[in-house]
Amino acid sequence: MSTQPDNISQEKLLLRVHQGQKIIIVSDYLQTIYRRLALATFLIPCLVTVVAIGLLWYLKIGWLEVCLMLSMLALTTLGIEVGFHRYFSHRAFQANTPVRVILAILGSMAAQGGVIYWVGHHRRHHQYTDQPGDPHSPNLHEKGIVGWLQGLWHSHIAWTFAGKVPNSVLFAKDILRDSVISKVNQLYLVWVFLGLAIPTVIGGVITETWIGALQGLMWGGFVRIFLGQQIISATNSICHLYGDRPFNTNDRSTNNIWLAIFSCGQSWHNNHHAFPNSAVAGWEWWQIDIGTWASVF
Ligand SMILES: [Zn+2]
Ligand SMILES: [Zn+2]
Repeated sequence: MSTQPDNISQEKLLLRVHQGQKIIIVSDYLQTIYRRLALATFLIPCLVTVVAIGLLWYLKIGWLEVCLMLSMLALTTLGIEVGFHRYFSHRAFQANTPVRVILAILGSMAAQGGVIYWVGHHRRHHQYTDQPGDPHSPNLHEKGIVGWLQGLWHSHIAWTFAGKVPNSVLFAKDILRDSVISKVNQLYLVWVFLGLAIPTVIGGVITETWIGALQGLMWGGFVRIFLGQQIISATNSICHLYGDRPFNTNDRSTNNIWLAIFSCGQSWHNNHHAFPNSAVAGWEWWQIDIGTWASVF
């Protein structure tokens, strides 16, 4: 069963109005900038990952590169799931200013957009889940295998290449009013570069070599960004296409156990759509939910 919007063109989607305001900012200039930024933050980590794997024949990796990659991946994925998602998008728990700033910086290091951009798109996703206006639904294409694959590609990564910018006055007004987090948001690219610099410096200092620094940059920086993008993108794509639906929500959201650890609990996605403002995503004892453990801590 598809929610195919046959009669709704992309142009009408672009101009869709919510509470008297357009849901995205209509600006060719801004759209071009965001399109280029999205392409760069996908293609560069993707290419470096291919190069890093190719170089494994010449540059062996050891415990240092693995630890840098996994620790940076864990920190930035928690920044996205606990910070950008559960706290900033849904206000699912209370946090003081230092914690808010740390969560916003860690989430920014994931290179998936600044906190206002991320929250704006995510609140759009909840407002219009699997309906026209949802920025990354996989269920708005033609029926059949071709439409299914188009939906998978669109929801996984291609939606970011459109460069659409959510109307933050409509979807993220609370963050715009937060002067500290707005400042963190303005410095988004600084945090992305910091997320690349930290593993580079650690790799260089521990090995006392430039090759060690380069390995730190590749595995703790770019490969880690690529993996983090795939994990969060999989909840947008696969967790609206395939999996269990214990709750009969008014959308196509699903739970996927195999993604639970990597996504810090975001893949209990049907649970989340049923109770979007809950700090808890895993409701059963066996539903591993690192995001909840981290937010309680
Ligand atoms: Zn969803
Ligand atoms: Zn959500």
